[in-house]
Amino acid sequence: MEFSSKYLERAIEEISLLPGIGKRTALRLALHLLKQPQSQTTDLATSLVDLKTKVKQCKNCHNISDQDVCGICKNQSRDHSIICVVEDIRDVMAIENTEQYKGIYHVLGGKISPMDGVGPQQLNIETLVAKIKEGDVNEVIFALSSTMEGDTTNFYIYKQIQNSKYALKTSTIARGISIGDELEYADEITLGRSILQRVPFENSLKN
Ligand SMILES: [Zn+2]
Repeated sequence: MEFSSKYLERAIEEISLLPGIGKRTALRLALHLLKQPQSQTTDLATSLVDLKTKVKQCKNCHNISDQDVCGICKNQSRDHSIICVVEDIRDVMAIENTEQYKGIYHVLGGKISPMDGVGPQQLNIETLVAKIKEGDVNEVIFALSSTMEGDTTNFYIYKQIQNSKYALKTSTIARGISIGDELEYADEITLGRSILQRVPFENSLKN
């Protein structure tokens, strides 16, 4: 494509780096922005810079937060002895939406997937194991998607914590949805119920 403006070309270049956005869509978006009032484009640009520079990771659970510790971890009315292990922050949002869970979370940041070059070291597993070994945790709920990678990750963590000398309960969420469905897409009622009706992790190993 030939452009009459290098600024337009640059904007299209940047926008088209976003997932799912081709050059044509990028052109449409850039021309749209060009037509908007100055303030709107400035607000968009500022929000993107803030997103990248101000958003932090909770140092306790790796959830996204504007503070060092997220609101869920800070909330003393939640049960800090129950940790729900999830793949990413979208799962935290999905489970929070159900309003059925009152424990805290641990966000792994992915699943073990040798095919994609993701090993345990690339995930927030060490901090989870360390937290459990401190001894204040009574239950760990595995809430990863029931894919092969999810199962592998659950089992890896289970092996790490199973021999801890504390009476630790491990469970998986009982899922009313078919294998391979991502947690994020489960409807709220099904997901809420599946957390309340969680099953001992050992049971899932027999299947
Ligand atoms: Zn947190």
